[in-house]
Amino acid sequence: MTYVETNFSLRGQRALVTGANTGIGQAIAVALAAAGARVTCAGRRRCDETVAAIDAAGGHGESLLLDFSDPLAARDVFADADYSILVNNAGIIRRDESLDFTEEDWDAVMDTNLKALFFTCQAFAKARLTAATMPEDRPSHRGSIINIASLLSFQGGIRVPSYTASKHGVAGITKLLANEWAARGLNVNAIAPGYIATNNTEALRADPVRNTAILDRIPAGRWGEASDIAGTAVFLASPAARYIHGAILNVDGGWLAR
Ligand code: NDP
Repeated sequence: MTYVETNFSLRGQRALVTGANTGIGQAIAVALAAAGARVTCAGRRRCDETVAAIDAAGGHGESLLLDFSDPLAARDVFADADYSILVNNAGIIRRDESLDFTEEDWDAVMDTNLKALFFTCQAFAKARLTAATMPEDRPSHRGSIINIASLLSFQGGIRVPSYTASKHGVAGITKLLANEWAARGLNVNAIAPGYIATNNTEALRADPVRNTAILDRIPAGRWGEASDIAGTAVFLASPAARYIHGAILNVDGGWLAR
């Protein structure tokens, strides 16, 4: 096998991606499948479009209903399937002045973006750390977790208090879990996407003042596409990333370098 086949292929691996019906999650699911993984596309709605795209490219995908209105919804998902890759991508945002921000908007965002993410990591790790089978090519490797963080894991943002709190939390939890599980064969890392054109940022792109201000600050000079994030997820799940633990990788067109 070539260096690329050995180090960057996900053949033989099984992945679960949350929020895979659209946006960044959809692009990641399609890319993981293209790299050889069998991919479960999980969401609170069926991920038929994503599964169809995976099938059309000759990959293996399936849809799973998983709704994080119960943050522990994934508690039993990993027990009877041999997943080695988990991508925690599902997330929501609520916008309002901090003076007016409601408890409902606080709890909804924290529950989906942070509490559900932590307990999904826990359920995945419980299954992986007791799994009988290990990948032949990586006997000490038990799996990879990739959490989707944000620029607001590092910066304050405006009018998104619960989102900022949750994404700072995602960065912290990613590092904590890496500290606990790195020696046990799990790689835990995060991706911090910059401004990506998805449903999540529709309101920003529709506001000409905010849109221009954002574009002016991005060294790459454009909004990111969901596919710009997907390759980084493939890399972090691949054997090439074996010594990466607790990293928050910025994929932001240079935003944080500015
Ligand atoms: P989308 O709104 O397009 O996707 C969010 C996904 O999360 C959807 O699949 C959504 O399902 C799912 N989701 C939301 N709530 C739940 C729930 N209760 N249970 C299960 N699934 C749920 O936005 P993005 O693709 O942009 O967002 C993906 C991730 O990337 C999020 O974590 C977001 O915070 C993060 N991110 C995005 C950035 C951007 O610029 N776009 C920048 C930085 C981070 P449904 O379609 O049913 O709502």
